[in-house]
Amino acid sequence: MAQALSTLPSSYCEKFSGAAGFFGPYGGQHIPPALAPVINAIADAYASAKADPAFQEELTYYLKQYSGRETPLFFARNLTEKLGGAKIYLKREDLNHLGAHKVNNTLGQILLAKRMGKTKIIAETGAGQHGVATAATAALMGMRCTVYMGAIDVERQYLNVERMRMLGADVVSVTTGGAGLKEAVDAALDAWVADPEIFYLIGSAVGPHPYPVMVRDFQSVIGNEARKQILEAEGRLPDYCLACVGGGSNAIGLFHPFIGDKSVRLVGVEPGGKGVKVGEHAATLSYGQPAVLHGSFSYVLRDGEDVAPVHSISAGLDYPGVGPEHSLLKDEGRAEYVTVSDAEAVDAFLTLSRTEGIIPALESSHAVAQAMKMAPGLDRDAILLVSLSGRGDKDVDQIVALTKA
Ligand SMILES: *Cc1c(COP(=O)(O)O)cnc(C)c1O
Repeated sequence: MAQALSTLPSSYCEKFSGAAGFFGPYGGQHIPPALAPVINAIADAYASAKADPAFQEELTYYLKQYSGRETPLFFARNLTEKLGGAKIYLKREDLNHLGAHKVNNTLGQILLAKRMGKTKIIAETGAGQHGVATAATAALMGMRCTVYMGAIDVERQYLNVERMRMLGADVVSVTTGGAGLKEAVDAALDAWVADPEIFYLIGSAVGPHPYPVMVRDFQSVIGNEARKQILEAEGRLPDYCLACVGGGSNAIGLFHPFIGDKSVRLVGVEPGGKGVKVGEHAATLSYGQPAVLHGSFSYVLRDGEDVAPVHSISAGLDYPGVGPEHSLLKDEGRAEYVTVSDAEAVDAFLTLSRTEGIIPALESSHAVAQAMKMAPGLDRDAILLVSLSGRGDKDVDQIVALTKA
């Protein structure tokens, strides 16, 4: 289902625009008929869970007692002074249990799976962060878990592979095509079609409806907390919200509660990789065109009629698609999307480590790098709010290899 790209006729987009699961023309459910009842059951279960105070209470309990929320909003004073411009605040999603924002979503979806009586969980993973978060929450709920991971990522993120196995999950190394995150999603979708009893726990705000909405809702805890925290700290809203964009879940989670605040500019930071040629980056909104990938209509990086090969120094951003809500935010001009190169991300990784004593994930380093580019050109009373989506322990080996080379 995932291989062939198709572009939708505009009549289709107009027909469905505004319906549930659509963001303008983007989103929808582009799925094999066999999966329709399964996915609709999830959509129904989620609609009922969302409205159920007992579900929300249980989720809040685990976010607090298991993951340690709320996460701090930290004023990066040293980095701010070094750059001599806008104030930089970091939303510390790296302090979540398991080291990234991913757990906000895996807790939500696993509680939904439990509510639906499911016992078998599958997930895809890129850097391994979503796989680890899924394996951990599956262990917590006593469920079986299988994680699909591209063979290339298995190699560059072996520590997360071992963590998943320790947490009791099976890790399947996917060797087809580019052996990356796209192929991992393809393999997970194939497994789901083969056994609809499975609950597919998608790790980003992508895929068919209801996933983009559901993941956005679960990750909105980031923006809801940050909005309250910046008002407490500064008495006003930030001028800019910045977040890295892979599939777009930490970004939409930060952005969503600010969408109605017209004074707040939303900036998504895509992986510019090594260059602008096909295969050298994974900057979907910057260089892609709308098409159907993995069950939804959104911007996709294309190489003719095929999905383009992608590259990013950070495995978690290495994906040729993006969540449909970002596609609409881009077209409407409500959010802007920029790129940061591999080299700039590595520089930001080292700079934040040395100025603030915080080792950021390479993914999050893209957002930090963009803040470092913007801050010097802005007034000293301007405020940049950056999603520090995860911590960089997983990336230490990679950085050591790079800086020694
Ligand atoms: C997975 C991951 C990302 C990318 O995923 P999004 O859905 O775009 O947020 C970014 N940062 C970290 C630390 C991750 O683990």
